[in-house]
Amino acid sequence: MSCEKKCEWLDNSRMTCFDRCPRKFFYQYVEHLRSRSPMVAADYGTCLHCALPFVLRNDLSGASQEFTQRWAEFGHEGDDKRNLSQGLRMIEAFERAHRDGGSIWSPVDRPSNTLKILDERSDDEIPFALDIGLGCPFVGRIDALVRHRDTNELFIMDYKSCSWLTQGWIDGFLFSPQLRGYTIAMKLLYGLDNVVGGIVETLHVLKSGPKIQTLPPFRFQEWELGDWLEWSLGCSAGIHRCYAENKWPKNLCGCNSYPSYGTAGFMCEFAQLCSVEHWESIVDLYEIQEWKSFVMAEPTPSENE
Ligand code: SF4
Repeated sequence: MSCEKKCEWLDNSRMTCFDRCPRKFFYQYVEHLRSRSPMVAADYGTCLHCALPFVLRNDLSGASQEFTQRWAEFGHEGDDKRNLSQGLRMIEAFERAHRDGGSIWSPVDRPSNTLKILDERSDDEIPFALDIGLGCPFVGRIDALVRHRDTNELFIMDYKSCSWLTQGWIDGFLFSPQLRGYTIAMKLLYGLDNVVGGIVETLHVLKSGPKIQTLPPFRFQEWELGDWLEWSLGCSAGIHRCYAENKWPKNLCGCNSYPSYGTAGFMCEFAQLCSVEHWESIVDLYEIQEWKSFVMAEPTPSENE
């Protein structure tokens, strides 16, 4: 196992992955291995992330065009829940849900000094890179900063597409590292003390037709944000140690739900690699694809001055 690299940045996905299993982190983020199966669900979600902000600016046809173009670029045939026609129906459902003050939130302009990135998905998105003591920047991209219609509070907003909408899934956001980490980022970066938590806009993917549901807002107390900070410091220390020692132990409780007493919902996608003594011998079952939170734009000459 070779690892001459070091950890240059961390986001919630990386820390959550490491927390589940250091070896999974190694396969996914050090070796950049990906399953060869088409990532239809993730790509469908990306197309919606790009299209829906047009709806919020009363540009329904722009939203449809954006979805159609992005979906064509991915080249997926899709399935009966995720395809071009269902995507366009989702856009219409989202427009109906947000029409004429029907929504509890509306986007606010993002701060003027937001990071410039090349792979921006919308005018609402807020990418960030922040020093919070992780030994490297904490980075992420927030779908939008929004204001609550009735209370005037600010929230970070996250679009979540899902094919199952259970109470257990909804309850999971109470402890979501993503919502808490993003809330902290907005407070620290922009001095926005009135950012009080997260709003999750669910895009329910169904054969019978998509549904939109805004979950009740998740508000976090200072001590709850402190819990996230403590967790992230522990994760980052473990990640830097694994890089330094070039050791990525397998957490056998992270593989599927049985050994973890129900915690991990899906069989780990790297189970095949861990089923043989030498993972390199079957590494061709996977493809190599480096994934970044975002791609930074080069500073313009005027920014360098
Ligand atoms: S199969 Fe289990 S041990 Fe192997 S990478 Fe996945 S979670 Fe870790």
